[in-house]
Amino acid sequence: MAQEEVKEVVPDITCQEVAQWASAYLEEHVGDERKRQIAVHLAICAGCETYVNHIATVRDMIRLLPRVEDIPSDIVGLRQAFIDRLNCRRS
Ligand SMILES: [Zn+2]
Repeated sequence: MAQEEVKEVVPDITCQEVAQWASAYLEEHVGDERKRQIAVHLAICAGCETYVNHIATVRDMIRLLPRVEDIPSDIVGLRQAFIDRLNCRRS
């Protein structure tokens, strides 16, 4: 039918570029053309597919966590409470 559209789908994007664009790709912050290039690359490159899936998993996990900045102080507080409790039991 539309034989003029013989725009070859050459994945002219390297693994390095996929790594650089992974976050933007997952957040849909990339243009349609770039998105297509990455999708094509992921389809033919198992290494990058694994990498992007890994990033997606980590991102989802981070999103599930309540404010990450609060965690260190919470851990300090919990540790202190734990130590206090130990001290109470001993005395
Ligand atoms: Zn690759």
